[in-house]
Amino acid sequence: MKNKENKEDFFEAGRIARKVKEWAKTFIKKDMFLIEIAEKIEEKIFELGGKPAFPVNLSIDKIAAHYTPSYNDKTVARGLLKVDFGVHVNGCPVDNSFSLDLENSKENKKLIEACEKALEASISFIKEKIESKEKIKTNEIGEIIQKKIESFGFYPIVNLSGHSIEKYNLHSGISIPNFNEKKEVEIEDGIYAIEPFATTGTGKVHDGNFSGIYKVISEKQPRSEKSREVFKFILEEYKTLPFCSRWIYKKFGSTGLLSLKELESNGNLHHFKHLLESEGSKVSQAEHTILIEKDNFFVLT
Ligand code: MN
Ligand code: MN
Repeated sequence: MKNKENKEDFFEAGRIARKVKEWAKTFIKKDMFLIEIAEKIEEKIFELGGKPAFPVNLSIDKIAAHYTPSYNDKTVARGLLKVDFGVHVNGCPVDNSFSLDLENSKENKKLIEACEKALEASISFIKEKIESKEKIKTNEIGEIIQKKIESFGFYPIVNLSGHSIEKYNLHSGISIPNFNEKKEVEIEDGIYAIEPFATTGTGKVHDGNFSGIYKVISEKQPRSEKSREVFKFILEEYKTLPFCSRWIYKKFGSTGLLSLKELESNGNLHHFKHLLESEGSKVSQAEHTILIEKDNFFVLT
C-alpha cells in the first residue's frame, strides 16, 4: 500500500479516535452548546497525542454534513445530531462519525440503526471478500449499503460517499458510493472511509450556507502582511487538511477573520458549504476508517 511507511501512525490515529468517540458519547447531552462539544472533542484529541484531521462537524437534522460552530455560535445540540470528527498523527488521518437521537424519537433511532447496520454489513462484506481472496468493487459495497438502508424503509444519500485516504489527503480520489452506481472500480490496498447516510427524504443533498470550514488550494502569496502571517500559520499547521474560522479566531482574533476573507478572495482557500437534505428531511450517518491489505483487514476507528 502507498501509506506503508506510515501504517503505525494511521493505527495510532485510529486508537485515539476510538477513545475520543467512546468518551464523547458519554458527555454529549441535549441543549449543550455545539461549540462546547466541538472544543471538548478537539482538546481531547490533542490531549491523547493526536491532532484534529478537520474541524469537528456537528450537523443537526436536515444538515447532513459540514456544520462546525463559529467562534460566537449559540446553537445548541438537539434533534438528530451527527458527530463527525477526524484524528491525524504525523499527517495520517482517520475519519469517523456517529449519530445521536437527542429528542427521544423512534424515527431518529431507526435512522441511526439503519446507518450503523449498513456500515456493519459493508465491513463484513469486505472482510469476507478478503478472506476468500476475491476482488472488491466499490459499487458492490454501495449496493450492500443501499439494500440495508432501504430494508429500514429509508433512502441512502447518493451524492455523499466514502473515500480513500492518504497522508495529508482526506479525499484522495477513490469514492465508496452509498448505492450501486453501476460504475465498477476495483479497490486496492489502502485506507478507506466508509460512511453511509440515511434519510427519510429522497436521498440527495445540496449546498447551503458557507460553513467556515476551509482548505488550502493555492499557495500564491496574499498582499497584506497580516494575511501572509495567517497563511504561513495555516500552511504549517494544517497543510492540505481542512481547518475552520473558529481555530483562526482563537489564534489571531478578529483580524484573523479578515485575513481569511482576503485569502479566500485571493484564491488561496476553498470554502466548504453546509450540505442540506434536498427536501429538508432528517439525515443520519455512521462512519469508520478501514485499512485494506492483500490478506489483511483492520477497522482503524
Ligand atoms: Mn469521511
Ligand atoms: Mn467524516
